[in-house]
Amino acid sequence: MSFDLRARQQRYEALDLLTSPVWIFDIDQRRVHWANRAALGVWNAPTLEELCSRDMGADMSESVARRLAQYQNDFITHGATFNEQWTLYPAARPISLNVRFSGHRLLDGRMAMLCEAFAQAQNEPESLRSVDALLHTAVMITLYCRNGRPLYRNPAARESVRDLAEPLQDRFVDPQAGLGLLERLDESGAATQTLAVHTAAGRSWHEISVRRCRDAVTGQDAVLVSEADVSAIKRTEAHAQFLAQHDSLTGLPNRSHVMQHFAEAVETLRQADQEAALIFLDLDHFKDINDTLGHAAGDALLVEVARRLRRTVRGGDLVARLGGDEFLILMVGADVRSEIERVRGQLMYTVAEPVFVAAHEVRVTPSLGVSLYPYDGTDFETLLRHADLAMYTAKERGRNDLAFYHQGMSNAVLIRTALEAELRRALERQEFEVFYQPIIDVPTGRVVGAEALARWRHPERGLVPADVFIPVCESSGLIQALGAHIFSAAARQQAQWAAAGHDLHVSVNLSARQLRHGELLRDLRRGLAQAGTNPLRLQLEITESTLLGQDPALMTLLREIEALGLSIALDDFGTGYSNLAYLQRFPIKTLKIDKTFIQSIDANRPLAEMIVSMCRLMKLSVVAEGVETTEQLDWVRAHGIEQCQGYLFARPLPPGEFVALLAA
Ligand code: C2E
Ligand code: CA
Ligand code: CA
Repeated sequence: MSFDLRARQQRYEALDLLTSPVWIFDIDQRRVHWANRAALGVWNAPTLEELCSRDMGADMSESVARRLAQYQNDFITHGATFNEQWTLYPAARPISLNVRFSGHRLLDGRMAMLCEAFAQAQNEPESLRSVDALLHTAVMITLYCRNGRPLYRNPAARESVRDLAEPLQDRFVDPQAGLGLLERLDESGAATQTLAVHTAAGRSWHEISVRRCRDAVTGQDAVLVSEADVSAIKRTEAHAQFLAQHDSLTGLPNRSHVMQHFAEAVETLRQADQEAALIFLDLDHFKDINDTLGHAAGDALLVEVARRLRRTVRGGDLVARLGGDEFLILMVGADVRSEIERVRGQLMYTVAEPVFVAAHEVRVTPSLGVSLYPYDGTDFETLLRHADLAMYTAKERGRNDLAFYHQGMSNAVLIRTALEAELRRALERQEFEVFYQPIIDVPTGRVVGAEALARWRHPERGLVPADVFIPVCESSGLIQALGAHIFSAAARQQAQWAAAGHDLHVSVNLSARQLRHGELLRDLRRGLAQAGTNPLRLQLEITESTLLGQDPALMTLLREIEALGLSIALDDFGTGYSNLAYLQRFPIKTLKIDKTFIQSIDANRPLAEMIVSMCRLMKLSVVAEGVETTEQLDWVRAHGIEQCQGYLFARPLPPGEFVALLAA
C-alpha cells in the first residue's frame, strides 16, 4: 500500500467501523479516494488499492460528468446534500443503492464527494430503469409540497433553477400567469401551460405540467411538476411571426401588418372621432437604378429610403413596405389632411436627397397618393386602391408630386392607369398563363405546331383575352417582362411536349417594343437555357410595322436572334403594307397571312394568290391564320398553303386540353 493510501486509511479509519457502505469520490480525478470495507463489497473490489486505481471516468456518460461538476459546485457554494438512487454495475450486475452525497474537502483543499449508501433498494429492472431515466432526462422534474417548497429535484431541474430552495410560486416571470396555472391545478388536479420562468441562465419559456400527487416518503399532498424548455420553439415562432409581418429587406412592417394594424386602429378612430390617411409612395424611375447599377444597389437604396421615411414621420405613424419600390404610410389624427399638407414637402425632400450606393450618387424622387379615412373609404382595401390611384395621378402629372384621391379620378385615363397597376401586380403574382392554338399541317390534318398566346387569369374577372391587356403592357413597358415570361413558359412547354414524343414547333409573339429593349437577347438566352429547348423548334412572330424604317441595329438584332437558332415569322401579313421587299431584306422564314385576309378571300383573291406564289419562289413557308370555315380551308388547300390555324380546328387551349387534343 502506498504511503498516500496509508495516510488516507488512517484519516478515515473510524468510518471502517460502519456497516453501511461509505466512500469518498474524487470528482476532479474521477477516482475513488477512499472506501470503507462495506463499500469494497459493494464495488466488488478485492482491495482498497485496486478500487482506487480504477478509472471511473473511462466510460462515464457526458450527462453524468456534467452532473458531477454541478454537484461539486453545489457543495462548494451552498453545502448541499442530495439523496439519489444510484445503480452500480460492479460485477456486471446492477445494484441499486440509496446514496446520500455531501461535500467533503480533501487535505489539499479540493472538494470531493462523500457517498453514503444507507439502504439497498430492490433490483427490479423496471425501477432501475425509471430511476435512471429520471436522472438522465432533459425534462426537469420537481416534487413540491403543498405550500410550494421543493422536496425533490431531478438533476435537470437542479441545473435549471436559480436557487435549489426556490418555491414554485417564485419561479414564474409573470406571477399572475403562474397563479392562473395553480388555480387550474386546484380545479382539475392537473394543468399544462407554456410560461416564462426564471432560471439560472436567465428567463426561459418552459412548458409546465403540474399534477397533484402524494409524497412517497411522508404520504402528504404534493405537486409534481415537469418542465420542458421550449424557448427555442418560442423563438422560432416569434421569428416566424415577425417575418410574416415584416419585409425582410428593410425590416419595415409589410402589407399584412398594416392591414391588421389598420383594422385595430379603426376601432379607436371611430370612438375618438379621428381621421386616418393612407399615403402610397412609389419611387420614380427606380427600375432604372436596378437596371443600371444592379439589384444590390437598388436594395441599398430601398433600405435608405425606408430609414428616411421612418425618421420623417411622427412616432404614432406607421411606415410599411408593400413590395418593390412601393411604400405605405398610415397616419392617424384629428385633421390628417392638414398634417399631410404640413409634412408633404419634408417627405418629398428627404426621399429626394442624394443617396450613395455602389459608389454612385443617385437621386430618386417619390410620387405620392393619399386617401383619407373615412371620406375615401372605410376599409383598408378600398383606401389602398384609392391611394394607389392618386399616386398614379401624381405620376401622370409629371412625377415627384403628391395627389389626394378624389372621385373624379375614375375617368378613362384612370381606368387605364389602374389597369396598368393591376397588370404590374398580376405579373408579380404570376397571373399570366399561356394558351396554345394548334397549327395544322394542311395535307395531313395533323397538329405540327402551336402558337403561344398570353392570357390573364384575373382573380375576379376570370380569363382576360390578350387584346385587352397587351396594348396596355406595350405602352407601359410591362411587355418586356411579360414577353420574357411567356417566352420562357413556351420554351418549357415545347421541351415538355418533345420529351413526351410530340416535337412540335412553338411560335411566340414579340412586340415591337421588345425588339427595341436592350434585354431581349438576354431574356431569350435565359429562357432557352432554363428550359433546355431545342431553339430550332421555336419561332418568334413579329409584325411588319416592326420592320419599318432603316434601323441597322434592328437588322443586327434579328441576325443575333437567328444565330441563337430561333427563326422569325412575319405576323398579320396582309393588314399593313404587305411589302414583299421586307421578306428579302430581313431573315424571315415564315409568313403568316392575317385572318382578315383569309376571311375576305373573295375581295383579296388576286393579291392573296400573288403573295402565296411569291412565298413559294422565295422558299418561305406560309401559315394561314383564322381559318373558320371549310370553304376557307378549301382555298388554303387549293393554293398549296402548307399550314393553317383557326377556330375550324381549335381555339387557343390551355396546355392540358392541348395535350388531350394531341392524343385524340
Ligand atoms: P395574333 O398574333 O394575330 O394572334 C392570333 C389571334 O387570333 C389570337 O387572339 C387568336 O385567339 C385569334 N384567332 C385564332 N384563330 C381564330 C379564328 O379562327 N377566328 C378568329 N376570329 N380569331 C382567331 P388573341 O389570343 O386574343 O391575341 C390577340 C393578339 O394579342 C395576338 O394576335 C397578338 O398580337 C397579341 N398577343 C397575344 N399573346 C401575345 C404575347 O404573348 N406577346 C405579344 N407581344 N403579343 C401577344
Ligand atoms: Ca401571332
Ligand atoms: Ca396574327
